[in-house]
Amino acid sequence: MRIGIASDHAGFALKKQLKEALKDTGHAVVDFGPFSLSPKDDYPDFTVPLARAVAQSKVERGIAICGSGVGACIAANKVQGVRAALISDYFSAHQGVEDDNMNVICFGAQVISYALAWDLTRAFLTAQFVRSTRTIDPNESRKKRMKEYKYLIIGGGMTAASAVYGIREIDSIGSIGLISAEADAPYNRPPLSKALWKGEALDSIWRDLKSKKVEIHLRTIAKEIDLKRKRVACENEEIYCYEKLMLATGVRPKQLPFGDDSIIYFRTVSDYRNLRALTGTAKRIAVIGGGFIGSEIAAALTMNGKEVTMIFPGESIGDRIFPRDLSQFINQFYKQKRVELFSGEKIIGLEKKGNQYSVKTANQKDIIADGIVAGIGSLPNIELAQAANIATKDGILVNEFMRTSNQDVYAAGDVAIFYNPSLAKQIRVEHEDNANTMGSLAGRNMAGKNDPYLHLPFFYSDMFELGYEAVGELDSRLETISDWKKPFEEGVVYYLKNDRVRGVLLWNVWKQVDAARELIAEPGPFTPSNLKGRLK
Ligand SMILES: Cc1cc2nc3c(=O)[nH]c(=O)nc-3n(C[C@H](O)[C@H](O)[C@H](O)COP(=O)(O)OP(=O)(O)OC[C@H]3O[C@@H](n4cnc5c(N)ncnc54)[C@H](O)[C@@H]3O)c2cc1C
Repeated sequence: MRIGIASDHAGFALKKQLKEALKDTGHAVVDFGPFSLSPKDDYPDFTVPLARAVAQSKVERGIAICGSGVGACIAANKVQGVRAALISDYFSAHQGVEDDNMNVICFGAQVISYALAWDLTRAFLTAQFVRSTRTIDPNESRKKRMKEYKYLIIGGGMTAASAVYGIREIDSIGSIGLISAEADAPYNRPPLSKALWKGEALDSIWRDLKSKKVEIHLRTIAKEIDLKRKRVACENEEIYCYEKLMLATGVRPKQLPFGDDSIIYFRTVSDYRNLRALTGTAKRIAVIGGGFIGSEIAAALTMNGKEVTMIFPGESIGDRIFPRDLSQFINQFYKQKRVELFSGEKIIGLEKKGNQYSVKTANQKDIIADGIVAGIGSLPNIELAQAANIATKDGILVNEFMRTSNQDVYAAGDVAIFYNPSLAKQIRVEHEDNANTMGSLAGRNMAGKNDPYLHLPFFYSDMFELGYEAVGELDSRLETISDWKKPFEEGVVYYLKNDRVRGVLLWNVWKQVDAARELIAEPGPFTPSNLKGRLK
């Protein structure tokens, strides 16, 4: 079906979200606006071209969005052949969809959530226009919208998938529900910036949950936890009851205060699809950020024939984790690979110039690119937990069994702060091994086990043909001892504090992760002479 969509400035953000969601439905979407992004010179009848296209069957159905939805609805209904309805709540909407042969729906962006708007759009697009009257009993409908699960997981990432595996190791029949804000079922994130750019198929990333008997609710955002009634309310008005709840809400990318949807903040498979699509037309791509994501994406795009410019505030790539000489070597290495580097640059603005962007820096640099992707850090998704009075800091606090301050609520993965005995401190880790190991342990504990999490997670990254694994605290402010077999090509870097090893970087050195963990657990004292040659 061809769907027309239009908004004024007030409906622009909702329109963008709906368009993104519609991408995966197989419908063709035709965008009729907005005519202005500025409230100053707003175009009051923005709906008219859309409504005309519906009346002339150029598109089969239309979606019009403005602040309240009212103006859009009035304007659309003036066009002969158009039957527009204002939709602002679930029950009226369904009655409208089922009773009427309406061909345009109008949303008020300021009165409806995205999740509800998406839910109603789906109903609108699949409705059979029967022209019969049908009354919906709100109570019956509400009952249908309340589901009970023995185990409920909020989050659709790697931790959530691993928690499902963990639960099923112990309990093969208890019902499991999984709520995810994403449009895609759980998948592995690391290939998004690595393997998928080296020829690996997109199909390889999906987590296998088919045999695990889990009900997955995609594009569903949990908005409130009622700890007393053991219920989670979602933005689409669904309510899920639980016996045990798991918060695997992970992190979200930090964003710059400008640029909006011009910048791809790289985290999800949807971001990957967008970046892939961009590479179809863009020649020059600016990558903002010199950390994990920035360095991996810059390498991936360069290997795919793009001219890449990296812009970051630090002195060199990875300078927050690598010793200075290594990080400076990486700068040279990227330059040899023809990546243009703007180090020590803070971005202060972004301007669209025709089909290109101009990135402005505090040092008055003006960097032109056809597209922009960013990895500038992340923020833990703790707001749900905070609102429910679950203990949080810069993450959700859990004990060694992954329990939060509430008995029946667990948390794990990127969002969880836990005490690690080897480092003798509380940490929060944003890496794959932690997501998988902690997620499955939390799942087992939810299902009745009571095992402590004593694991010190490792992590890894790839930059062109360079690769490493690492354990513990990699912080360039610590004392470091580098033990190179071949300088910057193969070797081990030890990170020390008070004569103890706090972290180990295994640079092109493999199968030493367990030995590194043992070293971190040892009391020391360690010196350059007793560490050199220890791991190789
Ligand atoms: C591009 C990329 C490359 C990476 N490469 C590596 C690597 O090489 N090595 C490594 O060790 N690690 C890597 N990582 C890190 C690793 O992928 C993460 O540590 C891991 O994915 C964390 O999983 P998680 O499930 O805890 O959190 P997330 O992946 O952040 O998942 C959280 C999920 O919860 C959902 N959610 C949040 N709030 C709500 C809500 N209120 N309602 C419903 N759903 C909600 C989110 O939509 C998301 O689906 C990489 C990460 C990225 C993004």
